[in-house]
Amino acid sequence: MRWGIYEITDRSVPVEQMCDRALLAADSIKGQYNEFFAVYDDNLCHKLLREKAITDAIEPALLEEQFIVYFQPKYSLRENRMAGAEALVRWCHPEWGLLAPGEFIPLFEKNGFISRLDRYVWEHTCRQLRAWKDQGYPLLPVSVNVSRADVYQLNLVEVLLQLANKYEINPKYLHLEITESAYAENPGQLISTVEQLRKQGFVVELDDFGSGYSSLNMLSQMKLDILKLDMKFTRNELEKSAEQSIMNDIISMAHRIGLHVVAEGVETKEQVDRLRAIGCDYVQGYYFAKPMPAVEFEKILHERNHNEQG
Ligand code: C2E
Ligand code: CA
Ligand code: CA
Repeated sequence: MRWGIYEITDRSVPVEQMCDRALLAADSIKGQYNEFFAVYDDNLCHKLLREKAITDAIEPALLEEQFIVYFQPKYSLRENRMAGAEALVRWCHPEWGLLAPGEFIPLFEKNGFISRLDRYVWEHTCRQLRAWKDQGYPLLPVSVNVSRADVYQLNLVEVLLQLANKYEINPKYLHLEITESAYAENPGQLISTVEQLRKQGFVVELDDFGSGYSSLNMLSQMKLDILKLDMKFTRNELEKSAEQSIMNDIISMAHRIGLHVVAEGVETKEQVDRLRAIGCDYVQGYYFAKPMPAVEFEKILHERNHNEQG
């Protein structure tokens, strides 16, 4: 039993609406085992209205291609140069402006739209890779995010292979970032999907490592290519003294089982120097570059190409 409470302060509000508001409050604690009552407030109403507005706007946004793929470079610490990128979605809404994924991805995960959005991002990323290839840039691997729902809902391997074929992209240029939390739901299914993806030549990165209950079992049972350290984990560990940090050990262990390591959210030179000293392979973060539209990324590709030839 759960109670929603609406305090009557204005008697001109129709009783029906008062009941709706109490229900809204009760709904807000659905699925929370230790909460039994909630009091209505206007913020709650705004939040739900916003969620509803976003949900209603999804379908037209997909049709009108309002979602834009940004690219954030990844740098190789050994070669001291850009070695790839991560594709990150933005929503360019005609009225609301540019929305960051934090504002809509959690809702998309809740209402099931995430798989359609992911497929859209994969397709746009492949199309972009193909365009760069056609313009004569040497291809660099780009990673796309794969949500938990994709692993369990879609025929993931087939969908990705079809895209790679359609745009004539060798699967090794498509890195797939699968979040470590996908493992908890159904380890067997994830292990077999990852195995099939790798067999087809895709490169699999375990995203957000260190953000939750990272399991060593997961690493020993699932064959992967790259371990991607979560931004908060990286930061916390780099703030500790060398003796207290387990970063060193994680990187050594990853190397021993044949994984490369990417550290995410690197913002300072000190962090870069320390990561380099302990053998981290790649870094991604504001220190080098923020996520940017394709045209901006292309300028870096151009420069990189130029330096190589010069
Ligand atoms: P993520 O996959 O962990 O992506 C990294 C996030 O960290 C990105 O935020 C990136 O802009 C941010 N970041 C990178 N370097 C730094 C840094 O040095 N400092 C700080 N403060 N932040 C940094 P963004 O683009 O806002 O994306 C947030 C999350 O949204 C992503 O986290 C990912 O979980 C999700 N997301 C983004 N695009 C997609 C997508 O196409 N599909 C799915 N399923 N999720 C996506
Ligand atoms: Ca990611
Ligand atoms: Ca991440």
